[in-house]
Amino acid sequence: MRMESERALIAEYGRKMSAAGLSHGTAGNLSIYDRQTGWMAITPSGVNYFDITPEDIVILDLDGKVVEGKRKPSSESGLHLGFYRANTDGTCGAVVHTHSNYATTLAIMGEPIRAVHYVIASSGTHEIPLCEYVTFGTPELAEKAVAACNGGKAVLLANHGLVATGVDLNKAFSLACNLEDVARLQWQCMCAGRMNVLTEEQIQKVMVRFKTYGQTTALDGSLNGY
Ligand code: 13P
Ligand code: ZN
Repeated sequence: MRMESERALIAEYGRKMSAAGLSHGTAGNLSIYDRQTGWMAITPSGVNYFDITPEDIVILDLDGKVVEGKRKPSSESGLHLGFYRANTDGTCGAVVHTHSNYATTLAIMGEPIRAVHYVIASSGTHEIPLCEYVTFGTPELAEKAVAACNGGKAVLLANHGLVATGVDLNKAFSLACNLEDVARLQWQCMCAGRMNVLTEEQIQKVMVRFKTYGQTTALDGSLNGY
């Protein structure tokens, strides 16, 4: 079986994603990209995350052609491939798409995720942009989401959900969790009618600190710990 370790990781993180409440039922999808082979491993379409086994994961090439797998790949395969194709510096090795509650609430309200908490710096920017509403699973959604993301690590999809990317699946998943937390805080502040948003400069300073945060040095020279 090809991409065996990636298949196992995706099955594991699919369960984590559901257990963390970032997705319910079959909503959302996860993938890992291997730059050496040009292959992407992705979750199958419409299968509950607690039922997915490594054998259910589908391998596609960058053109979306099935390399290996019996299942129908995620309907958002084109969206995931769009992010890998657009990434030229090798920093996008995994994509996590969720319909997580608070991020999606803001996406429905037409609001970007703002710097209401410093952990937004784990996205490498001070604000998560919003892509206009486009029907799920379409090439148009892939194209518009990648464009709206504008080389960043995450983007909100109007009336749909969130896309978070990372150098590996752990980073992409952590970012999806962090952004859901920030979105929740922002929503709470909006309900209270008051919020202080951090400036771009304040977030830049957090990004510098993140480089040395935690136990190890970031291998990709980017954000560490978060
Ligand atoms: P899949 O089950 O096809 O991955 O679709 C879920 C989803 O989130 C569509 O946007
Ligand atoms: Zn979706």
